[in-house]
This record gives sequence, C-alpha cells and structure tokens, in this order.
Amino acid sequence: MAFPAHQRAGPVCSACAEPAVFFQRHTGLHLCGLHLIEEVERNVRTTISSRQMICPDDRVAVALSGGKDSTALLLILNRLLASRTDVQLVAITVDEGIHGYREDTIRSAEDLVSRLGIEHHCISFSELFGGTLDTFLKNRPEQACSICGILRRKALIVGAELAGATKLATGHNLDDEAQSVMMNVLRGDLPRLIRDTGTDSSGLFIPRIKPLSYMYEKEIAAYLMLSGAWNDLPECPYAVHALRREARSILATLEYRYPGTMLNLMKSKIKIKEACLGKIPSEPIRHCRECGDPCSGDLCQLCRLRQTLTL
Ligand code: SF4
Ligand code: ZN
Repeated sequence: MAFPAHQRAGPVCSACAEPAVFFQRHTGLHLCGLHLIEEVERNVRTTISSRQMICPDDRVAVALSGGKDSTALLLILNRLLASRTDVQLVAITVDEGIHGYREDTIRSAEDLVSRLGIEHHCISFSELFGGTLDTFLKNRPEQACSICGILRRKALIVGAELAGATKLATGHNLDDEAQSVMMNVLRGDLPRLIRDTGTDSSGLFIPRIKPLSYMYEKEIAAYLMLSGAWNDLPECPYAVHALRREARSILATLEYRYPGTMLNLMKSKIKIKEACLGKIPSEPIRHCRECGDPCSGDLCQLCRLRQTLTL
C-alpha cells in the first residue's frame, strides 16, 4: 500500500515529494532518484553550454579510464548528445601498466563502450614509451603521480590525434578541481592556478574540456548507482603517495562542516583569474628541441623526464 507523502518515514524529494535518496548539502535540497539524475544532467549541460565546451562538428574524445568519473562522463555525454548528429563521441583508454589495478578498469571501459556502441581507441605506455608505469617507478614510487601525469598527458594527446578528435574531455569532478586549486595555492604556482586548457586558441593543442568540473564526487557516485552503472573497482596502489590525497582529506572535512567550500574555492579561482587578466604576461610557446612538441622552455616535460628515466 502506498502511503501519502506526509505519512512516509524519512525525508521526501524537494521537487516531487517522492522518498528522497540523496541530500544535497550545499543547497539543502533532498532529491529522489529521478530528480538526482535530472539535476546531474542539468549541471553538466549548464557547464558545457556556459563555457561553450562543445561546438558543431566537434569530434569529442572522452578519456575513459573505466573508473567512476570517466564512466559517468561518457554515459552523460552519450545521453546529452544523443540528438546531436553534428557531434561525434569516441573514447580513448590509456593503459599505464599498473598491475592489480588497470586490468579491472580496462575491462569495465571495454564493457561500457561495447554496450553504448561507441568507437574505442586503446593506447599503452608499453607501446608508446617502451615500458609500464610499474617498471618506471622501481625505487621511486613516491613520484608516481607526477611521472604518470606527464606520460598520460602525452598518451592522451597521441590517442586523441589518432582518433581525429577536436576536443579531449576528461572526467575531473569538482572535488578534483578544488583539490587542484588548493594544491596550486600551497605550491605558490599562480600560472598553473589560472591556466585554462579548454580555451587555447594557438591551434597547437587539442582543447581539453571538463564537463563534470562543477559536480561533486558524491553526486557522480549516486548517479552511477541510480543508473545501474556502479562498479566497485580497486584504487590505484600509488595514490597513497600523492599530495592530492592529503588535500582531498582536508577539503572533504571542510566541505562536510561548511557545505559549498569546494564551490567557493572554484569561485575564488575565477576571481583571481579575472584579477590577473592582462597583468601576467603569458609565456611564449616554444618547441621542444628534442621532440618538437609545443612547450614553454627549451625541453618539454616528457623529454626532461626521459633524461632521468630509462624510457
Ligand atoms: Fe597515475 Fe597517480 Fe592516478 Fe595512479 S593515482 S593512475 S599513479 S596519477
Ligand atoms: Zn620534447
């Protein structure tokens, strides 16, 4: 027997009075499954349109690790772009070679693209750099994320070029972005704090877009569970070494005590960027003397890394 809304135990949805499954702390709204899904998709649609992330004739390559954020990103874009015949969606998966972790996420990525019927390109550190991340990190696991980041950035660019993409979409969420703001402030790295990789007009880089950048990680997890796409996957074994892990834990505590903290950090970044407009000369783009890739110095990060690793 269905009880009238006022007789049911527990909170009800602020939009329809059905039983709520999610509490959005920063707005004070309770949401049922249907309205949470609607809210997540509305959030992504607004992020994309307000920043003009996707244009007619774009071929958008989604960096699909198979983890929760990139899975949600592909599912949402696939749904939002279903009626757009002028935009194509492809997926790129990078296999860094992390034993005990990547095998499961790659399997999850392959299942998803075959279910959605999306073109999929896989590229591995072994083919590109002659070895796995595990082998490069012998005796230096604490540098995992910085080394992995440089190699993965290159692998994604190669993958996106192979796929003929005009945009590269990554699954960074609000938690990731707020952590990056905090880490760049802690490092005193102003140029990186205000850098915008999505609006480069030099034509030398495939613009990167982050459609989930205003979406809390918890909302993404709830979206996946409600869409029946939740997979319990292992965490990267190297994540324990990252400064990001500490930033994550500090920010999660602050967000819990002061809902909206992460959104406020993003607003601060935008205000700092606006205040800096025209005051910080942009570094001229040069070309790496070893590989010719665009970079700001004499050697690109990858070629500098090549000198210290056996690549
Ligand atoms: Fe790479 Fe670090 Fe992410 Fe692991 S946690 S996949 S090492 S960036
Ligand atoms: Zn180089």
